[in-house]
Amino acid sequence: MSDIIQLLPDHVANQIAAGEVVQRPASVVKELLENAIDAKADSIKLLIKDAGKVLIQVIDNGIGMSETDARLSFERHATSKIRTADDLFNLKTKGFRGEALASIAAIAHVELKTKQENQELGTQLKIEGSEITSQELITTPKGTSIAVKNLFYNIPARRNFLKSNQVETRHIIDEFQRVSLVHPSISFSMYHNENEVYRLTSGNLRQRIVAVLGKKTNEKLVPINENTDVLELTGFVSKPEFSKKKRGEQFFFVNNRFIKNHYLHHAVVSAFDGLLPHGHHPSYFLYLTVPAHTIDVNIHPTKTEIKFDNEKALYAILRATVKHSLGQYNVSPTMDFNRDSNLDVPYDFKDKRIHKEPGITIDREFNPFKSDDQKSINFPYKREKTQNWESLYVDIKAPNIDIKNIEVQSEIVDTDLFKDEQSIAKTYQVHRKYIISSLKSGMIFINQNLAHQRILYEEFLETITVKEAMSQQLLFPLNIHFSKDDVTLLKEIKTDFESTGFMFDKIEDETVVITGIPTTVSESQVTQIIEQLLEDIKNEIPEASFSQLDVMAKSLAKSLAVKNGTRLTTTEQETIVEGLFTCKEPNHSPYGKPTYIAMDIEEIDKKFEL
Ligand code: ADP
Ligand code: MG
Repeated sequence: MSDIIQLLPDHVANQIAAGEVVQRPASVVKELLENAIDAKADSIKLLIKDAGKVLIQVIDNGIGMSETDARLSFERHATSKIRTADDLFNLKTKGFRGEALASIAAIAHVELKTKQENQELGTQLKIEGSEITSQELITTPKGTSIAVKNLFYNIPARRNFLKSNQVETRHIIDEFQRVSLVHPSISFSMYHNENEVYRLTSGNLRQRIVAVLGKKTNEKLVPINENTDVLELTGFVSKPEFSKKKRGEQFFFVNNRFIKNHYLHHAVVSAFDGLLPHGHHPSYFLYLTVPAHTIDVNIHPTKTEIKFDNEKALYAILRATVKHSLGQYNVSPTMDFNRDSNLDVPYDFKDKRIHKEPGITIDREFNPFKSDDQKSINFPYKREKTQNWESLYVDIKAPNIDIKNIEVQSEIVDTDLFKDEQSIAKTYQVHRKYIISSLKSGMIFINQNLAHQRILYEEFLETITVKEAMSQQLLFPLNIHFSKDDVTLLKEIKTDFESTGFMFDKIEDETVVITGIPTTVSESQVTQIIEQLLEDIKNEIPEASFSQLDVMAKSLAKSLAVKNGTRLTTTEQETIVEGLFTCKEPNHSPYGKPTYIAMDIEEIDKKFEL
């Protein structure tokens, strides 16, 4: 038989390699930004069109390339950054594989303009699918501009696989942030569809973090500094009282590269032990410098995981340093562990002139059911009176004994409890989180928070998709500050968001002006609700617009549902029980947890060996 093995043509090999290097527009952004930094630029501009699907362009004022280098730069394994394998262990640059440009040029239309400082004329190259289609001498400023158009134009499967513009933009912003946070001395700007998203001027680390993540970050930062033989550590962590339910702002950089590492993450989080309310996360921006030979540099180009030789030592140093710094800044004694963050006056609110005491914000017993009209406050529209929800259980065999005659000791001594004429069985609250009641067939435990989430979720879905949401005009519009990328996201979801009853006047720069909120929401909850929503949208990566509405409904339900630990009156308990069983899917919370457990009397009997 004749020989059958052939070498792949370069353009095919490049396309295959591209599959690894370029997964989405954000990967191109990362490679181009890193090349600009390696070229010693001190000003870098990123231009994006349609989430990078149409255009990604990076313009730098770095060292540029000669005519020959310009052509060579698109060859595979063509790099100016290492010469021998030993160089791998002493890397000073971001790139070294010489793969990025070759890969990008295999799957897009690329236009390069570049000029070195001492040259009069520069070079322009056009490349399509690895083929150079034109080369000219041009006049162009010092530095390099690379425009990548129509990414994946020749790989339809990849192109179709891209997510919504919103999701791809999010990934691009993530990369932009990661790169710009390591190089505060370089000015960066970013434009999306000609709108400015970021303009970061050269400054120190703190200024850069604040410019990237929003002005209100400044007062949250506790500096971290430590120098040892195995590790140089600098950066910031957030003060515990600014911890958030969202995880977003956690950055590790090792030798100037963004990395993820669960072990080190754990070290930082454990330094906060006892300082954070349950479910809250610290923010951190930590810059580690370790000897190059102690890390595995040969990491995959798109992976952010990294291996250290001496993880245990790093863990100990990191944990101790963060703990020590938190202690020095004396932030721990002011913490009140049990407070409910819902009840705090939001930060943005503090300087606002208050005309009327917002009683609710300092009411530790706050619960969303309390109002003049106890039953309807949290229900945007009137709910049909329940079908008899006990009938849900008639199928289960009827008990032999009447357990309704058994007295249950309720936590609340409520004298009204026994006077109430009730349409449903008596309810009792235990441990301020479960509502228990008897059923024809046994008994039921309902978790108040999960059940209320389900009720609110279905209501929000209905008001969002079917009915007009009820909105209350605010007497004094709320000005809330968010980071620029959160504002970008808010702009994108504005229309959908307004269908929940929020009304916006202006969304720009870092400020959002809110003129109306849903009737079910109190002013003091607004910041937290919106922060939570943005976080949920980022995490859920919604595709279709419907699922975005769904994420909103879920997120609002989660934020507004009565918390575990809140004492409920009998009426409130009943409202939850009735509300739950008029839901379309009463069995599960919007996030899929069970809302109640029903126990058949026979099961209970068994436990008593009856
Ligand atoms: P690597 O960065 O791993 O070397 P790339 O494919 O990203 O590989 O780039 C190939 C080469 O092209 C680089 O080594 C560098 O010499 C040159 N190059 C790429 N981008 C720029 C730029 N913006 N300015 C100057 N030179 C560049
Ligand atoms: Mg590179």
